[in-house]
Amino acid sequence: MGKTMSTNNNKTAGESGFQFEYDPAPESTDMVNIKKQNKLFINGKWMAGKSGKFFDTINPANGEKLAELTEANTEDVDRAVKAARKAFNGAWSELSPKQRGRYIYRIARIIQERSRELAVLETMDNGKPIKESRDFDIPQVAAHFFYYAGWADKLDYLFNGKSVSPIGVAGQIIPWNFPLLMAAWKIAPALAAGNCVVLKPAETTSLTALLLGEIIEEAGLPPGTVNIITGAGATGAALVNHPDVDKIAFTGSTEVGKIIARSTVNSAKKLTLELGGKSAHIVYEDAALDQAVESVVSGIYFNQGHVCCAGSRLLVEESIADLFVHKLKRRMASLRVGDPLDKNTDIGAINSPGELEKIKGLIADAIADGIEYFEPESTVLPQKGYYIKPSFFNNVASSATICRREIFGPVLAIQTFRTPEEAIRKANDTPYGLAAGIWSEKGSKIHSTAQALKAGVIWANTYNKFDPASPFGGYNESGWGREGGRHGLLSYVEVK
Ligand code: NAP
Ligand code: MG
Repeated sequence: MGKTMSTNNNKTAGESGFQFEYDPAPESTDMVNIKKQNKLFINGKWMAGKSGKFFDTINPANGEKLAELTEANTEDVDRAVKAARKAFNGAWSELSPKQRGRYIYRIARIIQERSRELAVLETMDNGKPIKESRDFDIPQVAAHFFYYAGWADKLDYLFNGKSVSPIGVAGQIIPWNFPLLMAAWKIAPALAAGNCVVLKPAETTSLTALLLGEIIEEAGLPPGTVNIITGAGATGAALVNHPDVDKIAFTGSTEVGKIIARSTVNSAKKLTLELGGKSAHIVYEDAALDQAVESVVSGIYFNQGHVCCAGSRLLVEESIADLFVHKLKRRMASLRVGDPLDKNTDIGAINSPGELEKIKGLIADAIADGIEYFEPESTVLPQKGYYIKPSFFNNVASSATICRREIFGPVLAIQTFRTPEEAIRKANDTPYGLAAGIWSEKGSKIHSTAQALKAGVIWANTYNKFDPASPFGGYNESGWGREGGRHGLLSYVEVK
């Protein structure tokens, strides 16, 4: 390490202030074959949209166009729902549960076989670092299909002494932050429970969902079992409002979730909503501080803070606050922001220029309000593409917008507390309730804190750990219902 190496645009400041650079280590894109124009996956076939309209999807790492996607209109939505209904009334329901399970296992195995291609495509379309898509997203996608495949022939054991049946046609709408993983969270339990689906991915990140369509085709599922239609909010709204959809599963912003809740309230449609969050880490003075710093960093800065359960608030005990903030600053200075395809990148690109502007606007407002702001000086951002430095606001009041609103970027709000009661009160002082993290060496303190927190998922001495067998979901404005585990099946079945 004696000499300065070239040429990644990221310098990393070591503890002594010594700076070194990393050579670029880009992942190859050779195995990815992106079609210039993409169709809709309806009834097992690739179909042109009725509107004849297309929209672009870009690579946020450089702003360049990747492909054109079909804008599905109400007629396309209707074709997709009809195909799903036909499969539900016929081929998919005629299979035995064991046979359905086999198809889901097949999807899982093909995902594993094509994992590299999926990871690279996800990173190109979304901007997340390749180490995230390669080591977290895609393995979790395969794991969800494997897990729910195992449930397909065990539904009789879901409820003791009761039998369950599928609901019918599920309309599923997902966001851009974990494009393929959200598709897996939706499709795998729906199929395992015997339903058929129409999925609409987010308009900025549809490419891996379309590749999943190819995988489903390769797995040979009966036509219409899974339909994938691309488009913007209007396409999603048409799916929500289609009269022959039995269930809507939505993951996205609380704002759109409320619109969907209002438009389904007078129908018989079942609804699950996985919405936003403003999740808090609570770090007690007896915590293992270096591990806590690492988890806080990964919980808000990795994946650009584009995580619904991002630990976007930090509550740190007053006696260790200065030391913790010092350690945090030092670690932040070593984070590498840059090319998402580079294997050394910690923080990739913000998914779209609109999101970047939104984050910058919230930061500028909080700075104008006089809140103490920090971003590492040494971080260098690439010239092209949509990037932002990791940052935090310190000594934030609970009433500050930066502490209340979901920013969905690498921005942390720090507060201090003196007693567990104060930590709990501050952590619960939010309209959301998705997740929380507790850091302490004392098991009793962890348990008493966890009992008092109003959050769907609580991690202790770790953060952002996922397993397909664990349910996930939120309180209050973070949503209704749970995904994952046995709970994830409950919203796809009728209980008799
Ligand atoms: P969003 O704007 O609410 O969009 C989510 C999806 O809904 C997209 O496919 C979107 O299409 C579609 N949509 C937009 N307007 C619609 C309407 N009126 N009717 C039906 N569908 C409509 O959310 P986002 O900005 O993509 O994603 C970020 C949000 O997702 C954050 O709030 C995050 O916390 C949340 N999230 C929650 C979880 C969880 O499990 N709780 C997980 C991941 C993300 P377009 O793409 O065309 O806008
Ligand atoms: Mg959106």
